[in-house]
Amino acid sequence: MTDPVNRVALVSGGSRGIGRATVLRLARDGFDVAFCYRSGPDAAHALEREAEQLGGGRVVGRRADVSDADSVRELVAFTEERLGPIDVAVTSAGITRDNPLLLMKDEEWRQVMDVNLDGTFHLCRSVVFGMMKRKTGCIVNISSVAGVHGHATQSNYAASKAGIIGFTKSLAKEVGRYGIRANAVAPGFIDTDMTATLSESVRKQMSGSIPLGRFGRPEEVADMVAFLVGAEYVTGAVFEIDGGIVI
Ligand code: NAP
Repeated sequence: MTDPVNRVALVSGGSRGIGRATVLRLARDGFDVAFCYRSGPDAAHALEREAEQLGGGRVVGRRADVSDADSVRELVAFTEERLGPIDVAVTSAGITRDNPLLLMKDEEWRQVMDVNLDGTFHLCRSVVFGMMKRKTGCIVNISSVAGVHGHATQSNYAASKAGIIGFTKSLAKEVGRYGIRANAVAPGFIDTDMTATLSESVRKQMSGSIPLGRFGRPEEVADMVAFLVGAEYVTGAVFEIDGGIVI
């Protein structure tokens, strides 16, 4: 995976936040990149143009709902048709629907599982056969520190992110002999739309409990993803990137 020329990456949830930063980073590293988004075509088209100028590779966005297996199959077929076989898959599409457990509605539990956990399953299942045939591939699934350590009011989200870790480790054991690596990244608080809804006082309180004293930047998570793409002897690992919040 050291020479990215003509290599192809697919990033779910690539139109905003961590996924967007990952698209830009992989494009800068010379990958041809496809990414999906659920609802924002304007942001996606702007990203295509911005990313293509960085590395000279092709960058294409496609609307897809990761919670829908057929939509993901179509996304993978589209990527292979436009860019070629997929070498790297990054699953960043994710949502939160926070509530204390007593108040949590069935649909809040279901939606988070459908997008975060089922979405990861759908994408990995759709890309892994091609990777097995070519005996190479790298999968990076975006989990969360909540999936490792838990977080009050996020039992649904934490369960989905813990599920991603078990899923990733199992996949790593299953497909290692085909030359495929699967790792998870577990970010702490990162400055994206997902955390933009936090009130200023909550942000202050959270930042106070982070040894590095600030939220992370999406680009810093993308750096970790890029490291894992190149880390030829790392698989089944969970890399926390959280400014030390869980020390
Ligand atoms: P974000 O800024 O809210 O962006 C989410 C992205 O996922 C958007 O591109 C969105 O597309 C896409 N998406 C959502 N539902 C989708 C679906 N059903 N199908 C396809 N795409 C979908 O989120 P973020 O903060 O970058 O988070 C990215 C990942 O990191 C998530 O898995 C999240 O759980 C994880 N994470 C984030 C943090 C944090 O502090 N930000 C911490 C730990 C883990 P549209 O724009 O079209 O809606």
